[in-house]
Amino acid sequence: MKNKATISFEVFPPKNKEGDISSIYRTIDELAKLNPDFISVTYGAGGSTKGKTVEIASKIKNDYHIESVAHLTCISSTKEEVLAMCQQLKDNNIENILSLRGDYPRDDSFDKEKLEFHYAKDLNTLITNEFPHDFCLSGACYPEVHTDAACFEDDLKALKEKVEAGAEYLITQIFFDNNYYYRLVKEARKRGITVPILAGIMPITNSKSLLHTAKMCGCSIPYQLSTMIESYYNYPSAMKEIGINYATHQIIDLITNGVDGIHIYTMNRPEIAQAIFRNIPTVLKELNHE
Ligand code: FAD
Repeated sequence: MKNKATISFEVFPPKNKEGDISSIYRTIDELAKLNPDFISVTYGAGGSTKGKTVEIASKIKNDYHIESVAHLTCISSTKEEVLAMCQQLKDNNIENILSLRGDYPRDDSFDKEKLEFHYAKDLNTLITNEFPHDFCLSGACYPEVHTDAACFEDDLKALKEKVEAGAEYLITQIFFDNNYYYRLVKEARKRGITVPILAGIMPITNSKSLLHTAKMCGCSIPYQLSTMIESYYNYPSAMKEIGINYATHQIIDLITNGVDGIHIYTMNRPEIAQAIFRNIPTVLKELNHE
């Protein structure tokens, strides 16, 4: 087995109107006990939770003393806004940015012609020019191909450009069939993309969220998993067990095959990540070394 794989988590700022930010810190209290390499914090494309990303990432870094990664999207921002956000991150001692394009806004007033950024690589270029020594940038990648890309080859070409513009590692979109991850890594390496590619794993704990997430992310549901869902969709406890165990099996297989890192989309439910860790403590803590 090769070098130790990193283990990391994604959380999102709470969406409730009263802004009950304390709920996220209860989540992070629990995740911290699992000793992750880093925790990433999403950035709401719609705007409402944007400000909270810096606050939460800052607390993870400065109070919990865990490395934090702030997600940052550019599609509906001006250069000035993005630079102001980077300055805030720098002022809060945050050194890692997951640099993203974001999805196109759905409102009719949105005018593509007026965009100041077209792709994540444009954001990478701006940040590396304006803050040359301040941030480690990462980027997103898509085992089942990004929904806007005409084909896998075009998506890989764009990925290479994004890495050349400054992404030092990549995190994948969720997938439920590890073969898509292996294909992406193999084809990326052939094209000279050598940076670590962390596998994004989402433990699915109810059938409704699985179907919604799969549609939104453009990922397929393998026959084996869809059969389990059909049989147990009316039994929430069984669905939860299936989701945790399915993700556990994906992770064992990935670690056995030398994955660079496992990034768990926690959906702010630390008990799910804890259950995975309880399933395979030795795989995660001991066997997973050089
Ligand atoms: P890009 O890398 O810019 O790619 C977008 C599309 O453009 C792809 O189809 C690509 O093939 C194509 N493309 C790129 N460059 C070129 C080029 N030069 N010519 C032609 N085509 C090109 N969204 C949020 O709003 N907030 C988040 O916090 C968030 N976190 C995420 C975390 C991860 C790990 C992942 C995988 C996704 C996340 N997203 C988030 C979703 C993401 O914003 C969307 O998937 C978005 O549609 C694409 O972002 P990107 O940075 O991958 O875009």
